[in-house]
Amino acid sequence: MVIAIDGPAASGKGTLAKRLAAHYRLPHLDTGLLYRAVALTLLDAGRDLADEAAAAAAARALAPGFLADSRLRGSAMGEAASIVSAQGAVRAALLDWQRRFAGAPSGAVLDGRDIGTVVCPDAAVKLFVTASAEERARRRHRELEGRGEAVPYDEVLADILRRDARDADRDAAPLRVAEDAVVIDTTALDADAAFRAATDVVDGRGGPAG
Ligand code: C5P
Repeated sequence: MVIAIDGPAASGKGTLAKRLAAHYRLPHLDTGLLYRAVALTLLDAGRDLADEAAAAAAARALAPGFLADSRLRGSAMGEAASIVSAQGAVRAALLDWQRRFAGAPSGAVLDGRDIGTVVCPDAAVKLFVTASAEERARRRHRELEGRGEAVPYDEVLADILRRDARDADRDAAPLRVAEDAVVIDTTALDADAAFRAATDVVDGRGGPAG
């Protein structure tokens, strides 16, 4: 079974995807890391993030080992990733990569922005995980504080709104809810409640072997 999970930044989709993958013993791909890795490759090479030819070449040459780089996780790389991810050639180069992963015999869990709409339109389960921008900013703010990064809340919220707009307004695979996706709004749900809501959907479709 392929479980496709999409949603905006800091919606809780990554946490949910990891938990579902562990629970159903499926491989998991955080596809945001692919875009982050392309951005990091460009920055390391001193290239402009808007250099489409360099970005597409970096996407085609991406090695799986690169996804373990700890520099990928910071908020600056998320912002940089959202710039390169608007480029059609980058998305095309990463599409095969993601589809190969999703084609594992066991099935897989993939999370991102366009998994249910573009990468795996035939996924057995599609979840769209969202929450209000204010709640997502509160969570991101707490997370950054926990890591010792003292960014003011208003700045975190502005960042989230800017990233939402860029992801939703781009021409190439914009963030939108797939017609057959189940929406899980986590504004008032903790991680356990979101997990229960998701397993209800998966089990209702016959479980991971369904
Ligand atoms: O999910 P994450 O915050 O790591 O993603 C970073 C950026 O990569 C997003 O803001 C989005 O622009 C882009 N992305 C994408 N398609 C995906 C996953 C991520 O465009 N499937």
